[in-house]
Amino acid sequence: MKEKVGKDKVDHRMPFYVREVLRMLHAAGHEAFLVGGCVRDSILRRTPQDWDVTTSALPEETAALFPRTFDTGIQHGTITVVLHKTNYEITTYRIDGKYADCRHPDSVSFTRDLTEDLLRRDFTMNAIAYHPDEGFRDPFGGQEDIAAGLIRGVGDPALRFQEDALRMLRCVRFAAQLGFQVEENTYAALCANTALIQKISVERIREELEKLWRAPYCDKMSLLWESGLLAQIDPALSRRLTARAGKLPEELVQCGQDSVLRWCVVLQDYTPKEAEKFLNGMKFDRATLKRVCLLLERIAEDAPVEPYPMRKLAGETGEEAVFQFLALQGILRPDSGHEESRRILREILAAGDCLTLKTLAFTGKDLMEMGVPAGKEIGRILGALLDAVQREPARNTREALAAEVERLIKDLGGSASKPPQA
Ligand code: ATP
Ligand code: MG
Repeated sequence: MKEKVGKDKVDHRMPFYVREVLRMLHAAGHEAFLVGGCVRDSILRRTPQDWDVTTSALPEETAALFPRTFDTGIQHGTITVVLHKTNYEITTYRIDGKYADCRHPDSVSFTRDLTEDLLRRDFTMNAIAYHPDEGFRDPFGGQEDIAAGLIRGVGDPALRFQEDALRMLRCVRFAAQLGFQVEENTYAALCANTALIQKISVERIREELEKLWRAPYCDKMSLLWESGLLAQIDPALSRRLTARAGKLPEELVQCGQDSVLRWCVVLQDYTPKEAEKFLNGMKFDRATLKRVCLLLERIAEDAPVEPYPMRKLAGETGEEAVFQFLALQGILRPDSGHEESRRILREILAAGDCLTLKTLAFTGKDLMEMGVPAGKEIGRILGALLDAVQREPARNTREALAAEVERLIKDLGGSASKPPQA
């Protein structure tokens, strides 16, 4: 009965072309099964992100069967098949050799035995194979663990974490994504091997942390510091998150889909300098780094509740950053006036008010035509004009600004001007 129920769940979600891939491999005399996340997620009634196939066919045998393929990692036995604009990864049954670097096997060898392939996978819930006609192949009791909500390492969990230390982060991330418990021995092995995480590249760590911050079962997130894993990645961050563990999950949920906001929430008590150092260490892209630091720099400021300073702020940082700033205020300082500020910003944007030099009705060229020499003075006058229209948007016309320029030039004692060239 359990088999039937699980089977319906996978069959129900399996795209038509996935079935076709399995059929084609079978017709050519090979074994082929769905495996990993797609089987696990289907059983959990979650929508799989991708449908991975594992097969007894060698990569070149797989490649020969499909009209459009490309190599994704042929040395690891993976071929990508393109069917109706969708990519499917097909990987040959594989045994991983020794792991000298705690991340990558030194060598891989292909096998015709499915169980050997399942043995190399991280957790029992990820080591279930499925074929619509053959049913489940589940030598490690993955279905039972899924039913019990347990994350259990395949075989000896300590060895599995020592082979590939990234699995420890995956473990915590899956716990928070699925709301699962980490099985006792697996958790003990994780706690005993946390130091190995230092062998993993910061990019991979960052990727896993990003997934963790947006995982729905936030209460499980604390495994990251309770296990000692975060202290091995960044001791200062571990101390700070431990100190405000109670509030963090709720704050992260409020960030919605915005990864910049999530990092601001995580780093909320960092100074911009400290945050910059952390983000640089994590090899963040410049745009994210700059935005997070900008928001952290401003977080203690009150949001503008008058149109003029709001226009100034939006002109300076861009409207997206202001919306993020207000969202962050709403999360971290709910009693600040962020609602009123948001209303004002929306009004300003709806009115199409000039916020930057780009939409100012007067340009540097116009100034030069009025006799202002090229150079710093142009920038200074344009800045003053922008400030004037940010105060009073109705003044953003050529005539009004020309008059303002005349006045400014007079105020400057005519020093900026010279007679217009005839
Ligand atoms: P998701 O895609 O939701 O993050 P997933 O389980 O599908 O989860 P992938 O990284 O797509 O994760 O990997 C697919 C499968 O490959 C896994 O289910 C697992 O069987 C195996 N796998 C992936 N990474 C590892 C690893 N580091 N060690 C062992 N097996 C792994
Ligand atoms: Mg996957």
